[in-house]
Amino acid sequence: MKLVAEWADLSQDEVELLKDLGNLSRDVATSMVENVIGGMTYPFSIATNFRINSKDYLIPMVIEEPSVIAAASNAAKMMREGAGIIAKASEQLMIGQVHLVKVSNPYVKAGIVIERKNEILEYANQQGVLVKHGGGARDLSVRVIEGTPIGNVLIVHLVVDVKDAMGANAVNTIVEAVAPLLEKMTGGEARLRILSNYAVYRLVRAWGKVCAEELGGGEVAKGIYEASVLAELDPFRAVTHNKGIMNGVIAVALATAQDHRAIEAGAHAYASRSGSYKPLSIWRLDEGGELYGYLEMPLQVGVVGGATRVHPVARIALKILGVKTAKELAEVMAAVGLAQNLAALRALVVEGIQKGHMKLHAKNLAIMAGATGDLIDKVANEMIKAGKIRFDYAVELVEKLRMQQ
Ligand code: NAD
Repeated sequence: MKLVAEWADLSQDEVELLKDLGNLSRDVATSMVENVIGGMTYPFSIATNFRINSKDYLIPMVIEEPSVIAAASNAAKMMREGAGIIAKASEQLMIGQVHLVKVSNPYVKAGIVIERKNEILEYANQQGVLVKHGGGARDLSVRVIEGTPIGNVLIVHLVVDVKDAMGANAVNTIVEAVAPLLEKMTGGEARLRILSNYAVYRLVRAWGKVCAEELGGGEVAKGIYEASVLAELDPFRAVTHNKGIMNGVIAVALATAQDHRAIEAGAHAYASRSGSYKPLSIWRLDEGGELYGYLEMPLQVGVVGGATRVHPVARIALKILGVKTAKELAEVMAAVGLAQNLAALRALVVEGIQKGHMKLHAKNLAIMAGATGDLIDKVANEMIKAGKIRFDYAVELVEKLRMQQ
């Protein structure tokens, strides 16, 4: 901290602020990552109105972007009817990869690996990882790539049931242990031995409906349907469509201390599985004017392991959610993603996204410009009234209004 403070010429006040670890103890913070000099607190919020698989949930969300929590709560209210949003997750299957190089006659070797599948799975499960929790290696497949710049490559995929863990460490332990056995069987040399974050067997599907009146009329429902089709046609739009979904998914991931990079990497790869980038959700109208949304994405999340039980606030978040399994957490996150998506599309159709967003943005600008207390709302309102939601104007207003106080 001393070096950084000197390097960046930090004031004593800045040093004190940065040193504040918030709701983390020093021991926990330094056990999580390296070179810790301080903490950074994000707001922890609750999205309301969620009814998922006939059960009511309060949704903890950690995010820096205004409007997300209000939007999620609003859309969840529209989708509460009946059982609410339905979400179903598959088994929690991850892929562990072993890349073998210098393999002669790779298709022959691939056959040998397939033939000896049971032996390999048994060996993998003897490692003692996951088995006592009901998980472990379940299946195996092989891919061959001939004549690459590094010769023939044989890729072995182990499909591992990781139960309630995100599973990266567990899968890595298993593939590292199995690699020497595969080297022996194939005569090749193992290179990379790690999970794939392209979790194509760990999918969650969420769907729900909303009637046109809830949305503000048939025109709005039709507009959302059209927005869905445009995302299905246009990858540039699809990326932004999916970003809206991830606003919800990642906010819950942050609150529960998930590996959100893994979730993002997997989600966007899955969106591209057809060879062109597609939306993770689609919206359709039925004859009665009801709007149906359907979302499908991979989610690699855990309720044990990683930071989920280390960060005390993540433990509280899981308690608020009341989820006991990784499967249920994935279902909740997918439902939040779907609701978030509906809210964003509705806002785009109804009023253009800027209006609601800019109100909160104006407040942020006011704070950045030095406003405190009552002045925050006063400055924000002035900016909105003048249609000038800009930092330089916020600074000007803070100065002006402060003089009048
Ligand atoms: P982990 O090893 O901390 O926890 C998993 C372990 O928890 C299991 O091996 C098992 O022994 C135990 N466990 C207890 N109850 C269980 C239950 N009901 N179901 C399953 N396991 C149970 O963590 P992990 O989930 O294997 O790995 C997650 C961590 O790995 C994250 O911190 C992630 O950031 C990190 N990581 C990610 C990548 C990647 O995504 N590419 C690579 C390396 C590490």
